Amino acid sequence: MTQPVSASAQPSRPGLMALDDALSQLLAHAQPLDGEDCVATFDADGRVLAHDIVSALQVPPQDNSSMDGYALRCADVSTAGARLRVTQRIAAGHTGVPLHSGEAARIFTGAPIPVGADAVVMQEDTLVLTGADPQALPEVQVQAVPQPGQWIRRSGEDVTRGAIVLHRGERLHPASLGLAASIGLAHLRVGRKPRVALFSTGDELVMPGDVAPEAMPAGAIYNSNRFFLRALLHRLGCEVSDLGIVPDRRDTTIAALKSAADQHDLIVTSGGVSVGEEDHVKPAVQSLGALNLWQIGMKPGKPFAYGWVERDVPGRAHFIGLPGNPVSSFVTFVLLVRPFILRLQGALQIQPARITLPAHFDVTKADRRREFLRVRRNDQGGLDLFPNQSSGVLTSAVWGDGLLDNPAGRVIHKGDLVSYLSFADLLS
Ligand code: AMP
Ligand code: MG
Repeated sequence: MTQPVSASAQPSRPGLMALDDALSQLLAHAQPLDGEDCVATFDADGRVLAHDIVSALQVPPQDNSSMDGYALRCADVSTAGARLRVTQRIAAGHTGVPLHSGEAARIFTGAPIPVGADAVVMQEDTLVLTGADPQALPEVQVQAVPQPGQWIRRSGEDVTRGAIVLHRGERLHPASLGLAASIGLAHLRVGRKPRVALFSTGDELVMPGDVAPEAMPAGAIYNSNRFFLRALLHRLGCEVSDLGIVPDRRDTTIAALKSAADQHDLIVTSGGVSVGEEDHVKPAVQSLGALNLWQIGMKPGKPFAYGWVERDVPGRAHFIGLPGNPVSSFVTFVLLVRPFILRLQGALQIQPARITLPAHFDVTKADRRREFLRVRRNDQGGLDLFPNQSSGVLTSAVWGDGLLDNPAGRVIHKGDLVSYLSFADLLS
């Protein structure tokens, strides 16, 4: 079952679909992709584990010292100032010999505790005594009475043999790779990378580099969506085929969709999903498969399309049409497409974490739609608001470090506790 984006916030305007419902419907179509990849643990950052990982060994493999100092038997040191003969030296990567009564072992961090020893005294709590006879074994004076077990890292303290250390559906991050390596795994089986075709619609769009700013024709704008959408897809571990800009014509849109469907799991487009005469995506997708055009009760956002394109070979590619306005495209991607793509890879935890923080500003005009305001955490532990929240103002998403999820119809007073989603989560 899918988790709602939040328990609150239904759109107040009839005819609009609640974001939570849109997400549930979308995720109902997101079956994990067939097949898995076997990747080097080095290359598994961000991938989703396809199987539980069970440890074949204990970590650490044996009791070892967590300090540079002396391993000893507590029974030999009932009072501070006791002296012991230093009979061996054990560095990390080496093993010692059994320790007898009256003896200490010089020991270093990570070295195995010798049989017979039951504590380590850190070197700062000792005094090395060198006698007149250079042939004699050195002695160490222990300045503090040790407690049994002190400065010993126990075998299996991190991982016990037979335990599941990483779970199917878990998205790996750098520490997970280290943990997998600590139990000897050089390769991991993970969900297959989704193959995603991306294209932008809009005759007004021009690519940076193709036309210089001073030579831009009237009515033209640079294609900004293509840049962040491609980067977002890459961050989610997708293999991206960037098909560029498709002209606002039905035949070109159909051709682009048709050629993309066979080789891809998902086609993502931006623009052309409103219901204007120049919005050709809807009829094009419908002629090749099916499309649901949703008006979602969210701001920015609203127009959003999910459907599929039938392949020439049996099967179909998912289709997601994002709104053209840059911030709408960005926000609908992180709130809807991101969980969809994570689910295709088999991820179980697909929702971003929510933090409750005080707003350090007022929003006096309530909106009929659930709003995702671009905000930034400040040094006082609260949130500041970017002054221009227009769906075309991409500066807001660069200035901000997250989204404030404000239910439909709610005004915000300075000091109110609000729900915050960080870009650190949403863009990962
Ligand atoms: P549309 O959804 O196609 O009606 O586009 C809505 C608005 O977003 C229009 O102002 C478009 O010019 C703008 N827009 C559409 N696609 C892009 C894009 N790839 N980059 C920047 N702006 C875009
Ligand atoms: Mg357009």
